[in-house]
Amino acid sequence: MQTWKEMKEIQPLAAQMLMNSFKKDRISHAYLFQGSRGTGKKELSVLFAKSIFCKNRNGAEPCLECRDCHRIDTGNHPDLHWVEPEGQSIKKEQILHLQKEFTYTGMESNRKVYIIVDADKMTTNASNRLLKFLEEPSQQTTAMLLTESGQTILDTIRSRCQLLALQPLNSRRAEEMLIAEGVSESNAKLLAALTNNLTEALEMNEDEWFANVRKLVIQLIEVLQNKPNEGLLFINHQWMPHFKERKHLQRGLDVLMLWFQDIINQYLDREDSIVFITEREKLEQAAMRWSRQSSAQCLSYILEAKRKINQNVHPNLVMEQLTLQLQR
Ligand SMILES: [Zn+2]
Repeated sequence: MQTWKEMKEIQPLAAQMLMNSFKKDRISHAYLFQGSRGTGKKELSVLFAKSIFCKNRNGAEPCLECRDCHRIDTGNHPDLHWVEPEGQSIKKEQILHLQKEFTYTGMESNRKVYIIVDADKMTTNASNRLLKFLEEPSQQTTAMLLTESGQTILDTIRSRCQLLALQPLNSRRAEEMLIAEGVSESNAKLLAALTNNLTEALEMNEDEWFANVRKLVIQLIEVLQNKPNEGLLFINHQWMPHFKERKHLQRGLDVLMLWFQDIINQYLDREDSIVFITEREKLEQAAMRWSRQSSAQCLSYILEAKRKINQNVHPNLVMEQLTLQLQR
């Protein structure tokens, strides 16, 4: 996400707002970027900083080639300051240090920019210090506060920032971005269906445990279809040992749900929505076993199982009951 053109595809509203501020030459003193992990907060703040400092800016687009752009990329720009949690929190001393840096005029221009990562982790003292700082803005200073949860930011700070709420990615877009990151098409479809958090999706893509979840779901379907007498055996000997924690089992059931959704997608000729694109033959066989209606019924059984797991019903019991239901 090096350009505004790319950024606009991921965060259309936020990107447009920031681009407009260059058009109108009205850059605020403080911004609060709020969005869950993986929504591009950091990328957005770096891009905005480049546009502020780049001397060959074309509209809002930074040139990406000049000394300013390069130094931002390598983290060496003298007038761009980063504040990140030290340990669990951002401390008052860190804000004081920042303030001290800012008493000197910019090293090379008179512009200065600072980015506070995980701004919700500021201690009360740090927040109060920052508030004072925001209350006396110099013309040439821009602050960007990044946070996953804006709730814990002091109202007095929030009210001095222009708030930009970053949207979770839609699954089609997440899928494209995963493919661009080198994820195979079939994995990208599966991951994008499970999460719209890119960072999490990329981690899952590298995770052997997750690769085995996919395999186990396909094996479970085969057992249910072809060896119904061995269903419980499979659950106890193959399935359960892989899902030691409840949250893992939830993930397994999410993938199982996608399988039944795919059967329905197939019935409805929704080719684009099919997730298990490399398992078309198996999906067709499954469609002979489960009608559209019974697939929908299976989906509600799985949802019910997920609910019970949340309610602390014993996972083995839940899975055994679900297996019998899916075999009906
Ligand atoms: Zn440049």
